[in-house]
Amino acid sequence: MNIPFSRPYITDELDYIAELLGNISKGWNISGDGRYTARATKFLETRFEVEKALLTTSCTGALEMATRLLNLSPGDEVISPSFTFSSTVNPILLVGAKPVFAEIQEDTLNIDPVDIEQKITCKTRAIYVVHYAGVACDMDKIMKIADDHGLYVVEDAAHAVNAKYKDRYLGTIGDLGCYSFHDTKNYVCGEGGALLINNDDKNMVERAEIMREKGTNRSKFFRGEVDKYTWVDIGSSHLPSDILAAFLCSQFEKLDNIQCMRLNIHARYMEAFAPLEEKGIVRLPVVPEYACHNAHLFYMLLDNRDTIISKLRARGVHATFHYIPLHSAHMGKKLGYREGDFPVTEIVSSRLLRLPLYPGMTGEQIDYVISSVMESIE
Ligand SMILES: *Cc1c(COP(=O)(O)O)cnc(C)c1O
Repeated sequence: MNIPFSRPYITDELDYIAELLGNISKGWNISGDGRYTARATKFLETRFEVEKALLTTSCTGALEMATRLLNLSPGDEVISPSFTFSSTVNPILLVGAKPVFAEIQEDTLNIDPVDIEQKITCKTRAIYVVHYAGVACDMDKIMKIADDHGLYVVEDAAHAVNAKYKDRYLGTIGDLGCYSFHDTKNYVCGEGGALLINNDDKNMVERAEIMREKGTNRSKFFRGEVDKYTWVDIGSSHLPSDILAAFLCSQFEKLDNIQCMRLNIHARYMEAFAPLEEKGIVRLPVVPEYACHNAHLFYMLLDNRDTIISKLRARGVHATFHYIPLHSAHMGKKLGYREGDFPVTEIVSSRLLRLPLYPGMTGEQIDYVISSVMESIE
């Protein structure tokens, strides 16, 4: 058997794309902000109950937009976990501000509110949170800290589309939320993302639209609010082709179906590996009462992780590690961090193993992964 780590779940995506291409002669366009972009955007806004969503070419792009919207100045500090992907932190450096790393909680592997408070200085402007594996951060505590200190909260919800904190969808709780529709995430269009604006400053929505359209007020023009569009601010090109939006619309129709399939696989792994946890051999994911997760990934923490990965690969099971902590990466060292600065992050990173999990995995494949793990650990 050969079981990949992840695989997008594709059914009838071609139908919408064919419809779009078939209507080009009628004036449908394949550039950004066409019919399917409008439809995908409406879906996000309705389903996740958010005032404003904007499709972007990636979550990285959405995080860049979010960061620029905060109007940070050089010297300003932004608190973020080190246990994340480079995209969470690059935008902070791109605007000349300073990322300040904080430790994660041992149970959820999400940023630790206690350490956030310790990292706050008079220069702190924002807190960036990452909902690891689609399991919510401790948002009430984090929003309270942000409120008390007058800080923005940006949610890197790349893993967390359709997951919840209490009764609210992740990405809709902080001032700004960022989704990813990259191939490896739960809902995909190859490369894609979205920016969610929850802050009630209307100015922020207008600035985001301008920033996304090369610094022009083209969005207003399309809505008939101005009679010409022109260059009004600094911007870039953050909008995806409508072909990708068509793909995404098809994925959104399977939103609950995809999540259900993922949750079933996650539950089977949890059940199968519970005896290993009882014996103290592995530590399984913890989902707090307040979180409704989306089974974005299945991980466990264990000794000799790299040996187990090799043994699993030899059996055709593509298990893998995850983040090299940002503070101990080459770039983190350039920022002045050192190994040993975040012990929980470092231990988790060295012990974490992710198993194949994707909708469409057969029962036989799931069983094979489980038995391969059992044999590799023995
Ligand atoms: C995947 C990922 C990103 C980047 O998403 P893209 O859509 O590929 O830009 C950012 N943050 C986290 C936590 C991710 O897992």
